[in-house]
Amino acid sequence: MTAESLLLRAQQMPGYNPAALPIELARQLIVESITPVTEFDVVALSDALGRILAADIISPIDVPAHDNSAMDGYALHGADLQSDSPIVFTIVGTALAGDAQHHEVHAGQCLRIMTGAMMPVGCDTVVPQELVHRVEGGQITLLANSIQRGDNRRSRGEDLRQGVSALSRGRRLRPSDIGLLASLGMSEVHVLRKLRVAFFSTGDELRSLGEALTTGAVYDANRYTLLGMLARLGCEPIDLGLIKDEPESITAAFCEGGRCADMVITSGGVSVGEADHTKKVMANLGEVLFWTIAMRPGRPLAFGHIHKKEKRTPVFGLPGNPVAVMVTFYFLVRDALLRQMGECGETLPTLRAISAQAIAKKSGRTEYQRARLSIDQNGQVFVTVTGTQGSGILSSMSNANCMMVLEHGRGSVAAGELVDVVIFDGLV
Ligand code: AMP
Ligand code: MG
Repeated sequence: MTAESLLLRAQQMPGYNPAALPIELARQLIVESITPVTEFDVVALSDALGRILAADIISPIDVPAHDNSAMDGYALHGADLQSDSPIVFTIVGTALAGDAQHHEVHAGQCLRIMTGAMMPVGCDTVVPQELVHRVEGGQITLLANSIQRGDNRRSRGEDLRQGVSALSRGRRLRPSDIGLLASLGMSEVHVLRKLRVAFFSTGDELRSLGEALTTGAVYDANRYTLLGMLARLGCEPIDLGLIKDEPESITAAFCEGGRCADMVITSGGVSVGEADHTKKVMANLGEVLFWTIAMRPGRPLAFGHIHKKEKRTPVFGLPGNPVAVMVTFYFLVRDALLRQMGECGETLPTLRAISAQAIAKKSGRTEYQRARLSIDQNGQVFVTVTGTQGSGILSSMSNANCMMVLEHGRGSVAAGELVDVVIFDGLV
């Protein structure tokens, strides 16, 4: 899709209003205009964690490759269990995990067997050793009905059958997937190449770390939150530094980003202030749309593509305020990045929790509140806002463990009402 058609497409969308754009429409427009990468790397399985699969994985073998025991105990014929009185079996040998040996077990007989050992032919049941009533003179005695036919046997291919799809293209590999690929004997895996994402900050008032903080200046926080957020998504961050509010320097930074990266992200200079040159520069270098998103925090946003010969690089101009940077990143840029990386993941789950307090809100915009989830002694999940919600107050983001999402059409929230919540951290 070309940037011109991005504008056309935008104008065709019902409800498109660049001066008050619902976040859902913005997200849709952005994601639709992004093309996923297709180039791939072949990496050792031990380096594949967090990478995105470039092709479906078809299982080359059955896992497990044999019927085997799920317990330490005795393998036997389930048909022998039909009795209302104690049953005696004669032990005919022992099978350890890894033994390739063949044991013949006939009616009335059993085989001492360890967890993971191959089931002898004909046996379909394992009685765990702790359920055996007596072991004496090479025989075991089971009480009637102490075990069901088929218990404690793991069947060949019950985890994965040869020829079935084990994992799909677009999956971000988690520890369980790495283990699963190992269980298929795969030492290498094809993964999509990492995205290179360039970013820089703009603002004459900003100072880099190590510089003295002169009157009126602030340290550049955004490059560090961006670095962290990009690294967490598995991108290769390219830090283009701190850029003065002058068109030539901003132009040079965008051109460098367009040359070396798959996406360029800037912060600051996209509102209507006098020193906000970023917008003009972006517009000169390609096709960029400027929106006021109906969201809080994070209203001004620029999105489009800069062009260099054949290469079109998506660019985001995020607001300058540190929390606005993070919220627009998480709720707009993140989806664009995941699409460009080729990830076909599940959308982030939204939970519902009870608001511990009343929250004033205007209908007609989506509001994101930094908040903490807690569970009371009855197991009810509450959510509490973490203090002042100004878009420059990064500490309330650090204190939060979730984002409360108050949807576009909603008005003020009363204490005790259910609200949507997105959790920051997960288990795996
Ligand atoms: P702007 O969008 O450029 O008007 O900036 C809005 C606010 O965010 C101003 O108070 C800026 O000083 C602040 N700001 C912009 N960029 C950064 C940054 N990289 N780190 C910390 N604060 C910033
Ligand atoms: Mg600025």
